[in-house]
Amino acid sequence: MEVMKFGGTSVGSPERMKEVATLITKSGNPTFVVLSAMSGTTNTLIEISDYLYKKNPEGANEIINRLERKYLGHLDELFLTEAYKQKTKKFITEEFNYLRTFTKDLFTSFEEKAIVAQGEFISTNMVVNYLQEQGIKATLLNALDFMRTDKNAEPDLQFIREKLTTILENTPDQQIYITQGFVCKNAYGEIDNLQRGGSDYTASLVGAAINAEEIQIWTDIDGMHNNDPRIVEHTEAVRQLNFEEASELAYFGAKILHPTCIQPAKYTSIPVRLKNTMEPEAEGTIINNELVNNKIKAVAAKNNIIAIKIKSSRMLGASGFLRKVFEIFESYQTPIDMIATSEVGVSMTIENNSHLTEIVDELKKYGTVTVDTNMCIICVVGDLDWSNLGFETVATEALKDIPVRMISYGGSNYNISFLIREEDKKKALQSLSNRLFNQ
Ligand code: ASP
Ligand code: MG
Repeated sequence: MEVMKFGGTSVGSPERMKEVATLITKSGNPTFVVLSAMSGTTNTLIEISDYLYKKNPEGANEIINRLERKYLGHLDELFLTEAYKQKTKKFITEEFNYLRTFTKDLFTSFEEKAIVAQGEFISTNMVVNYLQEQGIKATLLNALDFMRTDKNAEPDLQFIREKLTTILENTPDQQIYITQGFVCKNAYGEIDNLQRGGSDYTASLVGAAINAEEIQIWTDIDGMHNNDPRIVEHTEAVRQLNFEEASELAYFGAKILHPTCIQPAKYTSIPVRLKNTMEPEAEGTIINNELVNNKIKAVAAKNNIIAIKIKSSRMLGASGFLRKVFEIFESYQTPIDMIATSEVGVSMTIENNSHLTEIVDELKKYGTVTVDTNMCIICVVGDLDWSNLGFETVATEALKDIPVRMISYGGSNYNISFLIREEDKKKALQSLSNRLFNQ
């Protein structure tokens, strides 16, 4: 079976939902479909929760009413028959009455998670009803019955695989299986989610669990581009990426794919294909185990980076210095992205600044600390095995007019990262594109 995941814009209107129906039924083969909430809905649900945290039920109710009207307004356009219109209307009305129950009680993060999950429940219900109205054998599977995270809040693939296998065995002879992206239960059986944008992760986990032939992620762009199309002119979709290359790009800023999504697919060697709903015939990007030798594939950038340097003569020839430094970051649960060391100093970058003051205070015990904010990581991805000649030179040369704070190369065979000022990002990305791809 193939897994096809559609994001918020791809199910953003009744018209788009109908196009999704065409795409998922085209092959005629049984297909597993993962859907996001209609675009904007999750943000609106978060807004509702914010009002409730602030003990403003009137504000929350106003938004609930507005959102309900919007959804009910879609029904005439989506359905042909009164029976399906009424069936879906009943579901939507119950959903919004359920949301209203939260305006009366104590509000905690537990309630918030229940609220933000509802967008996916509504979109999947609308699409499955539409398919059934069209006479297609489609069934809705509740993601809460099989999507589960463990005590470390990591998806429990073993559990997901066992549950989903049983569920599919008990639901034979269907053409389309639909489920909600993003939502899950945690290790304590409470409703939870896979973080914002987590529907991609659902698709990849489902693909791994059912050993799918392919995991397709359908969005509104024709694949992963070789540079950020919002910033740089003349970018192009990359036809093929290795799992490692795609992970680096997704982590370092390519917005099309959620960074965690690659892991389950890579682990089970299932190809991931990125496709464009607006242009279904376009080839898109395929992510698999293959590696094209001697080729730089793409560039990505990540903002809001903080560089921290600690300089200490105590580091000279001493062992255990780096461990002490890293332990400080670990104790504040702050991941480090890039690192560069010399004999008397070490520089690291972090993105999460919530414990910056404490971290810096503790680091000061070991040496002189300097902090640079508003920095940006530029990540160049491709076959950057150290035995290949000249690739790091070309990337560095493209940045010759830009002050570079740190360089990290050799951590993996797939990337070289540069730390620059955020204000130089556009210039750096354009210059890399000109030098690497547009010659
Ligand atoms: N609806 C969720 C979000 O907006 C999950 C997703 O779309 O992937 O974050
Ligand atoms: Mg997304």
